[in-house]
Amino acid sequence: MRRHPKKEIMSDLIKKQWEMHSIYAAVVDNELKVVGEGKTTVVAASDPTAHAEINAIRHACKVLRTDKLPQGYWLYSTFEPCPLCASAAVWAGIDGIVYANNPKYRGEEANWSFISCEEVLSRGKDLHKVSLIKDYMIDDIKGYFTRHNNLTKND
Ligand SMILES: [Zn+2]
Repeated sequence: MRRHPKKEIMSDLIKKQWEMHSIYAAVVDNELKVVGEGKTTVVAASDPTAHAEINAIRHACKVLRTDKLPQGYWLYSTFEPCPLCASAAVWAGIDGIVYANNPKYRGEEANWSFISCEEVLSRGKDLHKVSLIKDYMIDDIKGYFTRHNNLTKND
């Protein structure tokens, strides 16, 4: 039986995004347990790299005291990881990414993610191969940016 994607994990992250107005991401271990979670803190931390996925990877690596995650760890995100975050997944040794929302539903900033997650992972496959599941549970989150545009402009 395929382990990913796990509906309960994404469902929880999507719920948090609607409630907390931030993209959410989580690193999940072999037992399907969340070992690291992150939301976007770019503005709050004055850190242009503090994306949800980066924060989740940092959290998981800190918990495990490693810079290279063990085999079988996956990254879940409520939004398609940008080139920065997709690259970080390669460096961290993430074995798979599942994301929900897609930039085409971001309204006026539809092209903000200038290189697709799929392309970054494809180019990085000789360093570390990362599986990808796109647009998972997208119907639960695709309306987010058009409904919360003003709140999320700087995320
Ligand atoms: Zn990112």
